[in-house]
Amino acid sequence: MQKAIHISRRLRAGRLLTSFFRPNRCGAATFALTILICLLGAVLLAGPAWAQAGKPPATPQPGAGGAALKPAAPAQAVVICLDPGHPSEVNSGRTVVHGVTELDMNWQVSEKLAALLAQTPGVKVVKTRQVKDQLSTNRERAEVANRAGAALLLRLHCDYGKGSGFTLYYPDQQGKKQGFVGPSPQVIAASRRAAQALHPGMAQSLAGLLKDNGIRGDSSTAIGRKQGALTGSIFSQAPVVTVEMVFLSHKADADFIKSPQGQDRMARALAQGVMLYLKGLANAGRGAAVK
Ligand SMILES: [Zn+2]
Repeated sequence: MQKAIHISRRLRAGRLLTSFFRPNRCGAATFALTILICLLGAVLLAGPAWAQAGKPPATPQPGAGGAALKPAAPAQAVVICLDPGHPSEVNSGRTVVHGVTELDMNWQVSEKLAALLAQTPGVKVVKTRQVKDQLSTNRERAEVANRAGAALLLRLHCDYGKGSGFTLYYPDQQGKKQGFVGPSPQVIAASRRAAQALHPGMAQSLAGLLKDNGIRGDSSTAIGRKQGALTGSIFSQAPVVTVEMVFLSHKADADFIKSPQGQDRMARALAQGVMLYLKGLANAGRGAAVK
């Protein structure tokens, strides 16, 4: 209907133009004035069509027609990369201490944590390896997180030596390994923020069960003292935190982490820490959008 009206307006304009171009008895000046008026009229009539040209099509309104509606793009999932420590180029993790191996403890808690995180909408879990006994270098583990675009590389280990309880480590400076210097200052800052978010979640869940040794820098570890940071941190492009969940050399710690209840408790503590971290990320995202 709209189109028909438009065409009839154009036809009328055409007839008008033809009539103005007929020879006129009133002389050249009148003829020139007539042409001018006629051109002006044509411009005014064609105006609305010009105005439409180059304009973006009107935004389809919801409910205006099924064909115009686009499906909403799926929200991008946040990737959490879980890295159960060992077997690596440094250590197989198969030494039996107080009846258990670090490899088994790291793997079992990681599997429980993966199951918990997988229930969280918008979270995708990526593991640095699919099989417990698969040898994987610490560089390769970081590269899995890098390829996945992980928001966090969470590395699970158990400590040995004097002491007990859990400790969080993050790269507090750059290190050097295989001629490569890393991680970037941005990753160092983001890793510190991640450790600071994870720690209260873990501390709350593990209060009264394990000693809380707080947050420390990679540079305070034996490997960190040698190369500046842990190898998995040096090659990481994702914020990276290494959690030494317990001291396996401490009998009570070993008893805790080898019991199904202790492993459940550790997995829940880590999941709570990850949730706090993700909440912080979401808040930071909203803050950036408001600025
Ligand atoms: Zn370890």
